[in-house]
Amino acid sequence: MIESQLYDTIIIGGGPAGLTAALHLAFHKRKVLVVDRRTGPLWYTTTPLWNVPGFIGKPGVTIQKTMLKEAQEAGAEVVKDSIVEVSGSEGHFQLTGEKGVYQARTLLLATGVARHHPLVNGDFEPWFKYAAKGNTYYCPDCESPELLGQDVVVIESHNPNGGVSQGSYLAEFASRVRLLLTGPTEFKPEWEAKRKELGFDVIEGQIQDVEGSKGRVHALILNDGTRVEADAYYVSNPKFPRNDLAKQLGAEIGPRDHIVTGPRGQLRKAGGLDTEFIPGVWAAGDVQPQTQQVTIAMGSGNKAAVMIDQHLTHLQLRQLGKTQDVVTAHD
Ligand SMILES: Cc1cc2nc3c(=O)[nH]c(=O)nc-3n(C[C@H](O)[C@H](O)[C@H](O)COP(=O)(O)OP(=O)(O)OC[C@H]3O[C@@H](n4cnc5c(N)ncnc54)[C@H](O)[C@@H]3O)c2cc1C
Repeated sequence: MIESQLYDTIIIGGGPAGLTAALHLAFHKRKVLVVDRRTGPLWYTTTPLWNVPGFIGKPGVTIQKTMLKEAQEAGAEVVKDSIVEVSGSEGHFQLTGEKGVYQARTLLLATGVARHHPLVNGDFEPWFKYAAKGNTYYCPDCESPELLGQDVVVIESHNPNGGVSQGSYLAEFASRVRLLLTGPTEFKPEWEAKRKELGFDVIEGQIQDVEGSKGRVHALILNDGTRVEADAYYVSNPKFPRNDLAKQLGAEIGPRDHIVTGPRGQLRKAGGLDTEFIPGVWAAGDVQPQTQQVTIAMGSGNKAAVMIDQHLTHLQLRQLGKTQDVVTAHD
């Protein structure tokens, strides 16, 4: 197992949040390492994104690779590994991955959220051929206008009410929205009323097979043999913030499992006051309670990096006895 030198900052997660932070810190000559296991959504998104300035119409994977290249060119080191354990405290954190052990003065958690893809005959892997490749969609705030005039099926495996809610955004653009419920089927009365008002028909059943080619779904075949055909398929399954490392560090976790942070991205202490933070650790991107979009992840990554850089400056200058000046300059 490889054991690393002491980095100024280790960023766990190399999506838009982590790589934006890495670029800023590397540009400011910090010794920074990104540890990423590469399961972020942009790695598998070959469809174009329309809301990332500078990248309009570019596939997600192009944005991901460009950001990675730019962070590396600025001097960030990047390693493909999965961190399973974190220990230590500010000044000397130790991260244990599947391949190596890494050490840093400060940490940034940019681990994103885990998404559940639809199960096909009980297995999520067959869906990877179609996930964000052709006519499958995941983000109403990003993609709804692409569904203009289209017949859309919303696939919902966990929460029928959530399916109605997500579908309501798509309905502004789509010509028709139907709900395919592969899990629970009972709506709360207010959501049932909303569903009826919006005219969403419900289909119930498990996906047994997918007919498709070149990343496009042509039809879903359900376990009772029903063929569900549509122009587009929207995946409305829940997302789970990857908060395991934050929990190990004793961080506050929010009601929807996001990492609770202060205004500058610092991790709040579990059970502590609003102003009590875990020294030396920040979080950015989808793992925070915020709208899940590329530019928001980038912005929060950049903000955290600025704070980390200022904090490192503060720590170094404190050793020289000049703390007061720096605090005044940066606060
Ligand atoms: C199909 C799809 C389409 C989308 N389209 C758009 C769009 O058009 N426009 C838009 O603005 N947004 C879109 N989004 C949302 C956008 O992709 C996310 O908001 C953004 O990627 C979040 O960035 P992030 O850096 O916070 O997390 P992520 O991009 O999820 O990156 C987190 C990274 O951390 C890694 N990681 C997690 N835990 C560990 C660990 N313990 N050790 C090592 N690595 C770890 C993961 O493998 C992953 O690579 C889309 C999302 C999906 C799923």
